[in-house]
Amino acid sequence: MNQVDIKSKFEFFRKNNIVYLDNAATTQVPDVVVNAVDSILEYRGNPHRGAHLVAEKDEKLLDESRKNITSFINADASELVFTNNTTDSINLAVDLILPKIREGDEIIIPISEHHSNMLPFDKLIKVGAKIKTIGLNKDFIVDISNLKKKITKKTKIVSIGHISNVLGTLNPVEEIGNYLKKNFPEIIYLVDGAQAVAHIPVDVKKIKCDFYAFSGHKMYGPCGVGGLYFSKELFSLLKPLRAGGGTVKSVSLVDNKSYSDLIIDFEKNLSILEGGTPNTSNIVGLSKAVNFIRSVGFDEIEKHEKGLVSKLLGGLEKIKGIKIYGASKAEKGKSLVSFSVEDIPTAEVGEQLDKRKICRIYKKI
Ligand code: PMP
Repeated sequence: MNQVDIKSKFEFFRKNNIVYLDNAATTQVPDVVVNAVDSILEYRGNPHRGAHLVAEKDEKLLDESRKNITSFINADASELVFTNNTTDSINLAVDLILPKIREGDEIIIPISEHHSNMLPFDKLIKVGAKIKTIGLNKDFIVDISNLKKKITKKTKIVSIGHISNVLGTLNPVEEIGNYLKKNFPEIIYLVDGAQAVAHIPVDVKKIKCDFYAFSGHKMYGPCGVGGLYFSKELFSLLKPLRAGGGTVKSVSLVDNKSYSDLIIDFEKNLSILEGGTPNTSNIVGLSKAVNFIRSVGFDEIEKHEKGLVSKLLGGLEKIKGIKIYGASKAEKGKSLVSFSVEDIPTAEVGEQLDKRKICRIYKKI
């Protein structure tokens, strides 16, 4: 599929003459996703709760979508909880880890992380944990030798962005996962995949991470749906954070008995973490977005991104006063370019581009 064919699948590009360079913040949505969401809303039931054809239709679609989305990152259907977005996923992971944290425990993150992979750890700092940061190497990539030096017996979590939202660089998450599992299997390894899932094939089993977080709206899906993968080894950590409808197999009202005691067999009852009626239309929409990415193919995506990034870098380099941050050549996974213009505030650069109908990020991320 060439660029024209791909763009023709989006009403946004058919109707608007806009250069859209803000995919790192949120992508546009192809017709297949819009139509799937619309059709669920037009005729919907409550999945896993009704014994009639309308509920069963959505139940089937929901279950198929879960399988499709998990297969996209090489996870089993029982290893993903649907969330609102990456931020929600990382907060959920932190809430699950919280009971394991003791005074003096350490969390290691690179200095280049997004706020969503920093601020949720505040909860752990409040109970005595400490944050340690690791620097980047000369290519602006997480320095694994630096990570090795920072790990101690107190290290509980290593959390790393798969692709950096500020530099566009691809971090060696697989190499880090192999190192951690071999040498420190007790450390919980979280990967923030927000900028990766739409750009490179993700295989959570190869990465050997314990958690992998992502957002639907950065991968051509709807807003308000994302995922948190967790490896099966973590089932013992899981507990109902949003107890309610759909989170237990049975309830008996015995005085003084904790409801959480009633939870049986997490593997067969994923909704323990999801609690309540699911976001069916958006989950089905996300599954269609996954199919859309598959139909274009990662080889094509890589080729196209390398072409765009080379063109952009080539153009920017010719302009006096431009400073480029991060790697200065097109590479696998690199889908964004950070730059500043000497003596011109970033917001003004943004305004000037906006006047020319070029959308880009310039605000806080
Ligand atoms: N992590 C990274 C690397 C991101 O780029 C973003 C979004 N810019 C987030 C996390 C947060 O994503 P969301 O707003 O969808 O929760």
